[in-house]
Amino acid sequence: ARPELAQADGPDFLGALQRLGYQSFRPGQAEAIEVLMQRRRLLLVAPTGGGKSLTFQLPASALPGTTIVLSPLIALMADQVRALEARGVTATFLASTLPGPEIGARLGAMARGHYKLVYVAPERLGAPAFREICRKIPIPLIAVDEAHCISEWGHDFRPEYLQIGELLADLPRARVLACTATATPVVRDEILSRLGLPADTPQIVRGFARPNLALHVAEEEDRRARERLIDRTIEAALGRAPGTRPSGQGAGDMSSGTAIIYAPTRKVTEQESVRLVARGWRAEAYHAGMEGPQREKVQARFSRGELDVVVATNAFGMGIDRADVRAVIHLAPPGSIEAYYQEVGRAGRDGRDALGLLLIAPGDLPLRRRLIERGGGDDSPPEPAVVEHKWNTFLELMRWAEGGSCRHDAILRHFGDEGEALGGCGRCDVCRQLSAEADDDPEATTLIVRKALSAVARIHRRFGLQAAVSLLRGAADERLERTGLVHTPTFGALREHDAAWLLRLLRRCVVAGWVDFTGDDRPVVVLTDIGRRVMRGELPARLLLPPRVRPASKDMLPG
Ligand code: ADP
Ligand code: ZN
Repeated sequence: ARPELAQADGPDFLGALQRLGYQSFRPGQAEAIEVLMQRRRLLLVAPTGGGKSLTFQLPASALPGTTIVLSPLIALMADQVRALEARGVTATFLASTLPGPEIGARLGAMARGHYKLVYVAPERLGAPAFREICRKIPIPLIAVDEAHCISEWGHDFRPEYLQIGELLADLPRARVLACTATATPVVRDEILSRLGLPADTPQIVRGFARPNLALHVAEEEDRRARERLIDRTIEAALGRAPGTRPSGQGAGDMSSGTAIIYAPTRKVTEQESVRLVARGWRAEAYHAGMEGPQREKVQARFSRGELDVVVATNAFGMGIDRADVRAVIHLAPPGSIEAYYQEVGRAGRDGRDALGLLLIAPGDLPLRRRLIERGGGDDSPPEPAVVEHKWNTFLELMRWAEGGSCRHDAILRHFGDEGEALGGCGRCDVCRQLSAEADDDPEATTLIVRKALSAVARIHRRFGLQAAVSLLRGAADERLERTGLVHTPTFGALREHDAAWLLRLLRRCVVAGWVDFTGDDRPVVVLTDIGRRVMRGELPARLLLPPRVRPASKDMLPG
C-alpha cells in the first residue's frame, strides 16, 4: 500500500480499500488513483483481470456524491453491483432489461443521493429523467468502462457510446476515468477525442507484460511437419507423453496442466481433436456450432482437469477458469495482434512457464481476406473502409509474425506499454535464435541495420518504404533524382541485396520499433528516437536478418 494516498485532509483511500475487502493495492492501482485525483482525467489501459474496476470503485466509495459508471455489459454490471453491496457500498444499475417501475424506483433513490455508484448502460443516456438527476446531484466521478467501444475502428464499436461525450460536457466538474483492455495508440487518441477530453489527458498503460510466456512462430506448410510440431509442443508443455496420466492426480487435481489449440474453422477443430485422441490424448473439440449440452460437457471436463487438450474455435474463451494452461497453439493466425495476445494470454495464468505457438502458412492470407470480405453474420457486405481497416489490422499481426526482434517486446510496443519491455525476453524463438547466432557475426548485422536506418533517416517524412529500398539498392528512381539523394553515400549502400530482401529487412525494423509511419492518405516513413540511437550505434541492433534464400511460396506479405 502507498501511504501517501491516505491524506489527513483528503478522502481515506486506505480505509476504503480495506472496507472493499482488499489488503493492499496491486501494482499500478495506487498510481492510477493518484493521477485521477490530481489531474482529474485519466485513460487507463490494462488487460482484463488487471484490476481496473478498483480504480473507480475506490474513489467512488471514498468521495462524497454519486459516481456514474458506464458499462456495455448488463451481466457484468449486475455482478459488480452485487459484489459492492455485499461489502456495504450502496450501488445499483440501470438497464432497459429492468421493468419500468423498478427503473423509476432506482432513479428516485438516485435523486435522493442514496447510491455511491450507479452503473448505467449507455443507451440510458438518452433518457431525460436520468440526465436531469445527473445535473442535480453531486457527481465526483464518471467512469467509462470498456472505453474502446466508442472507437469506430476498435473491434467492438457501440454507437450508444457516442452519447457519452455529451454527458461529460454536461457535467464538466466530474472527474473522468476511461478504462479499456484493448487500445492501440490510434484507438486511444480516438477515445479521448470522442469523449471530448484534451489530447494531453494523462494515460497509463501497463500490465501487458507476460514474461512467463515463451512465444514461438513457425511458418510451416507441410501437413506432417505441422503435426509433428504440434505433437512435440503438447508433450513439451505438459511434460508427458500421450496416453500417460499426470502424476499424483487425484479428484479435482488441476496442477497437471492442459493445452488449448485454436483452429480457424469448426471442421478443423473436429479433425484435429480426432487426430489427437488417436494419438492417445484426452482431447475434445469445442465450437459454437455444437449443441449447448455438449459444449457444457466439454467445458465441465476441461474445468475438472479431465482433458489434456481442447481444440476450439475462438468461441472458447469466456469460461476458461484454469490457471494451469501450459500451451496455447494456433493452427492459423487470428484477425489481429489484440485477438492473438488475448488468446495466447490464457496460457500460464499461474505465473509458471507456458508456451505459445503460432503456426502460419501462405494460405492464411487469402483465407483471412475472404473472411473479412464476407463480414459478420448478416447479409450486407462490409463497407470497403472497414474491409481495408481489418485487413491492415491482420497485416500487423503478420508483420509481427515475420518478426526479427523479441516477440514479447514487440507486442508491448504494439500496445504502447514500452515501460515493461524486457530488452529481449530470452525465451521466444527470435531471442533464442539471436543468442544462437551471437557468435556468427554480430558486427555484420549491425552494419547492415545501421545502413538501412540511415536510408530511412534520409527519406524521413518524405517517402515510403519503397523509396528507402531504391536508395539502398542504388536503383534509378525519379524521387531520389529530384531530391538529390542519388548523390549521397547511402545511395547503393546495400546494393548487394535484392529489393524483396531489403523490404523485409525494413519491415523488421518497423516491428523492432525503429521505423514508423506517418501521414494519412499516403504513409511516409519516420525514423523513431530509438531508431536514431540504433543508427548512431548508441543502442545494439538486436535484429534477426531475413533469411537469404526463401522459397517463392513463402512470400507472405503483399506490398
Ligand atoms: P478488470 O476490470 O481490469 O478486468 P477487475 O477490476 O475485474 O479487472 O479485477 C479482477 C480481479 O482482481 C477481481 O476479482 C478483483 O476483485 C481482483 N482485485 C482487484 N484489485 C485487487 C487488489 N488490490 N487486491 C486483491 N484483489 C484485487
Ligand atoms: Zn524474446
